[in-house]
Amino acid sequence: MISDAGVSNSNYFSSSYSLWWKSLWKLNLPTKIKLFVWRACNNLLPTNEMLALRRVPVCKACPLYNFHSESILHSLWCCQVLNQFVVNEDLGLLCVCFWKSWSLRNAAFHGSPVDKEMEVVSWARLFISEYHDACELKDRLSSLIPVRNPIWIPPDPRCFKINCDAAINMADRTVGFVVVIRNSEGLVMAASS
Ligand SMILES: [Zn+2]
Repeated sequence: MISDAGVSNSNYFSSSYSLWWKSLWKLNLPTKIKLFVWRACNNLLPTNEMLALRRVPVCKACPLYNFHSESILHSLWCCQVLNQFVVNEDLGLLCVCFWKSWSLRNAAFHGSPVDKEMEVVSWARLFISEYHDACELKDRLSSLIPVRNPIWIPPDPRCFKINCDAAINMADRTVGFVVVIRNSEGLVMAASS
Protein backbone atom coordinates (compact mmCIF):
# COMPACT_ATOMS: atom_id res chain seq x y z
CA MET A 1 0.00 0.00 0.00
CA ILE A 2 2.73 2.38 1.09
CA SER A 3 4.76 1.37 -1.91
CA ASP A 4 1.81 1.99 -4.29
CA ALA A 5 1.17 5.40 -2.77
CA GLY A 6 4.88 6.17 -3.06
CA VAL A 7 4.93 5.28 -6.74
CA SER A 8 1.75 7.23 -7.37
CA ASN A 9 3.15 10.31 -5.58
CA SER A 10 6.41 9.96 -7.40
CA ASN A 11 4.59 9.85 -10.77
CA TYR A 12 2.53 12.84 -9.76
CA PHE A 13 5.59 14.89 -8.85
CA SER A 14 7.51 13.75 -11.89
CA SER A 15 4.70 14.77 -14.27
CA SER A 16 4.20 18.09 -12.42
CA TYR A 17 7.94 18.67 -12.66
CA SER A 18 7.93 17.96 -16.36
CA LEU A 19 4.90 20.22 -16.90
CA TRP A 20 6.64 23.02 -15.02
CA TRP A 21 9.73 22.82 -17.25
CA LYS A 22 7.58 22.70 -20.39
CA SER A 23 5.70 25.80 -19.22
CA LEU A 24 9.00 27.57 -18.58
CA TRP A 25 10.57 26.78 -21.98
CA LYS A 26 7.35 27.78 -23.78
CA LEU A 27 7.28 31.27 -22.28
CA ASN A 28 7.60 34.09 -24.79
CA LEU A 29 10.64 35.59 -23.06
CA PRO A 30 14.32 36.04 -23.99
CA THR A 31 16.24 32.76 -23.66
CA LYS A 32 18.69 34.33 -21.19
CA ILE A 33 15.82 34.84 -18.71
CA LYS A 34 14.54 31.26 -19.06
CA LEU A 35 18.08 29.93 -18.62
CA PHE A 36 18.48 32.13 -15.55
CA VAL A 37 15.30 30.66 -13.98
CA TRP A 38 16.53 27.17 -14.87
CA ARG A 39 19.81 27.91 -13.04
CA ALA A 40 17.93 29.30 -10.02
CA CYS A 41 15.66 26.21 -9.86
CA ASN A 42 18.71 23.97 -10.00
CA ASN A 43 20.43 25.79 -7.16
CA LEU A 44 23.14 27.13 -9.46
CA LEU A 45 23.14 30.84 -8.58
CA PRO A 46 26.30 31.98 -6.79
CA THR A 47 24.57 33.58 -3.80
CA ASN A 48 26.77 34.48 -0.86
CA GLU A 49 25.29 31.61 1.15
CA MET A 50 26.12 29.17 -1.65
CA LEU A 51 29.66 30.55 -2.03
CA ALA A 52 30.25 30.30 1.73
CA LEU A 53 29.02 26.68 1.66
CA ARG A 54 31.66 26.00 -0.97
CA ARG A 55 34.29 27.55 1.31
CA VAL A 56 34.71 30.72 -0.76
CA PRO A 57 35.76 33.44 1.72
CA VAL A 58 32.72 35.75 1.45
CA CYS A 59 30.25 37.19 3.93
CA LYS A 60 26.95 35.28 3.78
CA ALA A 61 24.90 38.45 4.10
CA CYS A 62 22.66 39.84 1.35
CA PRO A 63 24.66 42.50 -0.58
CA LEU A 64 21.68 44.86 -0.76
CA TYR A 65 21.01 45.24 2.97
CA ASN A 66 23.98 43.38 4.43
CA PHE A 67 21.63 41.75 6.93
CA HIS A 68 19.96 38.41 6.02
CA SER A 69 21.90 35.36 4.91
CA GLU A 70 21.69 35.39 1.13
CA SER A 71 20.02 32.21 -0.11
CA ILE A 72 18.46 31.93 -3.58
CA LEU A 73 15.01 32.26 -2.01
CA HIS A 74 16.11 35.41 -0.21
CA SER A 75 17.72 37.06 -3.22
CA LEU A 76 14.80 36.37 -5.59
CA TRP A 77 11.80 36.58 -3.29
CA CYS A 78 12.28 37.64 0.32
CA CYS A 79 14.75 40.53 0.12
CA GLN A 80 13.14 43.73 1.34
CA VAL A 81 13.77 45.50 -1.95
CA LEU A 82 12.11 42.77 -3.95
CA ASN A 83 9.03 41.99 -1.86
CA GLN A 84 6.67 43.75 -4.25
CA PHE A 85 5.69 40.51 -5.96
CA VAL A 86 2.08 39.46 -6.16
CA VAL A 87 1.85 35.72 -5.63
CA ASN A 88 -0.86 35.10 -8.25
CA GLU A 89 0.95 36.89 -11.06
CA ASP A 90 1.65 34.93 -14.23
CA LEU A 91 4.77 32.84 -14.58
CA GLY A 92 6.38 35.02 -17.27
CA LEU A 93 6.12 38.13 -15.13
CA LEU A 94 7.58 36.33 -12.12
CA CYS A 95 10.51 35.06 -14.20
CA VAL A 96 11.35 38.58 -15.39
CA CYS A 97 11.01 39.89 -11.80
CA PHE A 98 13.43 37.22 -10.58
CA TRP A 99 15.91 38.05 -13.34
CA LYS A 100 15.72 41.78 -12.62
CA SER A 101 16.02 41.15 -8.88
CA TRP A 102 19.17 39.16 -9.47
CA SER A 103 20.63 41.91 -11.68
CA LEU A 104 19.94 44.46 -8.89
CA ARG A 105 21.60 42.13 -6.42
CA ASN A 106 24.61 41.76 -8.76
CA ALA A 107 24.89 45.53 -9.12
CA ALA A 108 24.99 45.86 -5.31
CA PHE A 109 27.45 42.96 -5.06
CA HIS A 110 29.85 44.74 -7.47
CA GLY A 111 29.47 48.09 -5.71
CA SER A 112 27.36 49.82 -8.38
CA PRO A 113 24.62 52.24 -7.30
CA VAL A 114 21.23 50.48 -6.91
CA ASP A 115 17.79 52.06 -6.94
CA LYS A 116 16.34 50.36 -3.85
CA GLU A 117 12.96 51.99 -4.44
CA MET A 118 12.66 50.49 -7.92
CA GLU A 119 9.23 49.06 -8.79
CA VAL A 120 10.45 45.70 -10.03
CA VAL A 121 6.99 44.45 -11.07
CA SER A 122 6.21 47.59 -13.10
CA TRP A 123 9.66 47.41 -14.68
CA ALA A 124 9.04 43.74 -15.61
CA ARG A 125 5.61 44.49 -17.13
CA LEU A 126 7.14 47.19 -19.33
CA PHE A 127 10.05 44.92 -20.29
CA ILE A 128 7.67 42.12 -21.38
CA SER A 129 5.48 44.51 -23.33
CA GLU A 130 8.48 45.98 -25.18
CA TYR A 131 9.90 42.51 -25.83
CA HIS A 132 6.61 41.30 -27.34
CA ASP A 133 6.39 44.46 -29.49
CA ALA A 134 9.94 43.86 -30.73
CA CYS A 135 9.13 40.20 -31.56
CA GLU A 136 6.03 41.26 -33.51
CA LEU A 137 8.03 43.85 -35.43
CA LYS A 138 10.74 41.30 -36.20
CA ASP A 139 8.12 38.82 -37.51
CA ARG A 140 6.51 41.50 -39.68
CA LEU A 141 9.86 42.60 -41.10
CA SER A 142 11.04 39.05 -41.76
CA SER A 143 7.85 38.35 -43.71
CA LEU A 144 8.63 41.38 -45.90
CA ILE A 145 12.30 40.61 -46.58
CA PRO A 146 12.87 37.78 -49.09
CA VAL A 147 15.10 34.98 -47.82
CA ARG A 148 18.35 34.74 -49.79
CA ASN A 149 20.61 31.71 -49.70
CA PRO A 150 24.10 32.95 -48.82
CA ILE A 151 26.82 32.22 -51.38
CA TRP A 152 30.14 30.99 -50.06
CA ILE A 153 32.97 33.19 -51.38
CA PRO A 154 36.43 31.55 -51.46
CA PRO A 155 39.28 33.28 -49.63
CA ASP A 156 42.46 34.65 -51.18
CA PRO A 157 44.79 31.75 -52.30
CA ARG A 158 47.21 32.58 -49.47
CA CYS A 159 44.48 32.37 -46.84
CA PHE A 160 42.04 29.92 -45.29
CA LYS A 161 38.42 30.73 -44.49
CA ILE A 162 36.78 29.71 -41.22
CA ASN A 163 33.00 29.33 -41.09
CA CYS A 164 31.20 28.50 -37.87
CA ASP A 165 27.64 27.99 -36.71
CA ALA A 166 25.91 27.26 -33.40
CA ALA A 167 22.44 26.09 -32.43
CA ILE A 168 20.56 25.61 -29.16
CA ASN A 169 18.06 22.78 -28.74
CA MET A 170 15.70 24.00 -26.04
CA ALA A 171 13.88 20.64 -25.81
CA ASP A 172 16.87 18.73 -24.44
CA ARG A 173 18.88 21.81 -23.43
CA THR A 174 21.93 21.06 -25.57
CA VAL A 175 24.16 23.33 -27.61
CA GLY A 176 25.83 22.43 -30.91
CA PHE A 177 28.84 24.23 -32.41
CA VAL A 178 30.46 23.53 -35.78
CA VAL A 179 33.64 24.95 -37.36
CA VAL A 180 34.85 24.32 -40.94
CA ILE A 181 38.14 25.59 -42.39
CA ARG A 182 38.43 25.67 -46.20
CA ASN A 183 41.07 26.80 -48.67
CA SER A 184 40.65 29.01 -51.74
CA GLU A 185 39.44 26.02 -53.79
CA GLY A 186 36.74 25.22 -51.26
CA LEU A 187 38.50 22.09 -50.01
CA VAL A 188 37.92 21.31 -46.31
CA MET A 189 41.22 21.56 -44.43
CA ALA A 190 39.75 20.89 -40.96
CA ALA A 191 36.35 20.59 -39.32
CA SER A 192 35.12 20.17 -35.78
CA SER A 193 31.75 19.91 -34.03
ZN1 LIG B 1 18.27 41.18 1.16
